Amino acid sequence: MTTHPGPDPELAVAYLEGARDPGPLFAEAARLRDEGKGRIVTYSRKVFIPLTTLCRDRCTYCTFAKPPGAGGVYLEPEEVLAIARAGERRGCTEALFTLGDRPEARWPQAVRFLEAHGHSSTISYLREMTELVNEETALFPHANPGVMTEGEVAILRPSNPSMGLMLENISPRLCEPGMPHHGSPDKEPEVRVATIEAAGRLKVPFTTGILVGIGETAVEIVDSLFALAELHRRHGHLQEVIVQNFRAKADTPMRSHAEPVPFWFARVVAVARWILGPEMNLQVPPNLTDSFEQYLDAGINDWGGVSPLTIDWVNPEAPWPHLAELEARTEAAGFRLRPRLPVYPEYLGPEWIAPALREKVAAAVTSEGFVRPREGVRG
Ligand code: SF4
Repeated sequence: MTTHPGPDPELAVAYLEGARDPGPLFAEAARLRDEGKGRIVTYSRKVFIPLTTLCRDRCTYCTFAKPPGAGGVYLEPEEVLAIARAGERRGCTEALFTLGDRPEARWPQAVRFLEAHGHSSTISYLREMTELVNEETALFPHANPGVMTEGEVAILRPSNPSMGLMLENISPRLCEPGMPHHGSPDKEPEVRVATIEAAGRLKVPFTTGILVGIGETAVEIVDSLFALAELHRRHGHLQEVIVQNFRAKADTPMRSHAEPVPFWFARVVAVARWILGPEMNLQVPPNLTDSFEQYLDAGINDWGGVSPLTIDWVNPEAPWPHLAELEARTEAAGFRLRPRLPVYPEYLGPEWIAPALREKVAAAVTSEGFVRPREGVRG
C-alpha cells in the first residue's frame, strides 16, 4: 500500500525543480509500472523510412529537415520498398515513416515531385507508400507525418495499424520569437492537440510524447503531461507516451543549448509515470541515452523502435544499441524483453484495427499480443 499522493501538479513541479527528495517519486513510479505492466519491457523491431526530408517548418534543433539542394528529397517508391524489404529480411515488423511536415506548402520542388507521382499532397503520397509496404512486405507501417486533419488520419488508417505525433510541449510560448518553434506553424500546440483528438475520434492507436530540454519550464512539462492524460481520458487511444530528451546537434541554432542530464531527466520520466498512471506504455528511446537502468527505475516499460538496419534519421549521431546489449541489460535489471508490433498488444481488437489489417495483424502476434517469432529470425 503506497502512501504517496496521487498526481498533483504542484508536487510534480517541486520534484522537477529539485525542491523535494525524489526518492518517493521513483518508488511510486516503479510501483505503478509494476502494477500495470509487470516486469515485461517491450520494443519494436523497425526500419526507418524518411519518406521526405523536406519540411515547411523551421525548428531550431532539427537536422532532419533539409532544403532542396541540401539533401531535401522524397524517396521514390522503389527506394521505400527496398528499405522495407531489407528490414523484412532482418526480422523487422515496423516500417516507421517519418517525414517533414507538409513540404508542398513551402517548396515548389515538393509540388513538382508530388505532381509527377500523381499526388497533390505529401499525405496522399504517404498513403500510397504505406499501402505498398503493407501489401508487399510483412512489415506494418506506422505513419509519423506531422500534423494531420481528421480526413488525412482517416485515409491512412486502413494501411497503418497505429500512427504518431509528438505533442512535444503544450506551451505556445515555445513558438514565440527566439524560441525553438518560432516559424513552425505545425508546432502550435493547438493544432497538434487537434490531430491527437482526431486520431482519438477515429479510434487510431496513437503514439505521442514530450520533447524535454528545449527551453520549456518545469511547469510547462507538467502541464504537457496532464494535457496528454486528459486526451487519453477522453479517447483511450494513447497507446504510448515517449519521453524524449533533447540532443544538441552541430549545425543547428541550438548546438550550444544544454542537454538534459540523466539524473534530472529520470525525474521527468518518473513524473510522467506518476501522472499517466499504471496502464500507460511509457517509453524512453534507448539510442539517446546510456542510462538504461536509471530509466527502468523511473517507471518505463518500453524502449520504442530499435533498428538492426537503418540509422535514426532524426538523431543520426546516436546509434541504436545492439539488441543483444539491450536485452542483456534489461534482463539483468529484472525484466523480460519482448518484441511488439508498432501497435501495442492492448490495441489489437477490432475496435482499433481497420478491417483490411486485421488478418495480417492476427497472424503476426502470439496469444499475448507480442510478435510471433519467424523461422530463422530472432524476434
Ligand atoms: S517539424 Fe519536424 S522535420 Fe520539420 S523542422 Fe520541425 S522537427 Fe524538423
